[in-house]
Amino acid sequence: MKCPHCFESVGVFSKELNKFGKSKFCPKCTKPIQLYVSLKWVAILFGPAVVSALLIKPLFINAGLNGSLATGLICGLMVLLCMRLKVPKVKENV
Ligand SMILES: [Zn+2]
Repeated sequence: MKCPHCFESVGVFSKELNKFGKSKFCPKCTKPIQLYVSLKWVAILFGPAVVSALLIKPLFINAGLNGSLATGLICGLMVLLCMRLKVPKVKENV
C-alpha cells in the first residue's frame, strides 16, 4: 500500500497500522493516514475471488480440510488486497 502523502509503500502488517487507537501515522513521513477497504477493488476482485475459491476448494477437501476454509481464506485475502490508505478527514475544532 502506498502512503497518500509521500507515496512510500507501507506494509499492511506494519506496527504503525496495527496499533490500537484512531490515529495512525505513516512510518516514513509521520503524516496521518487512514486504512480503509476500497469498494471499487472489492467489485473488481469479487469475480476472480469467487472463481479461485471454487478452484482451491477441492484441494482443501482433498487435504482433509473444511471446504469453507478455502472461501474464508480467499475472502480474507481479498480484503487485504482491497485495503488502501487515505488521508484522514480532519475534524476542525472551531
Ligand atoms: Zn508517508
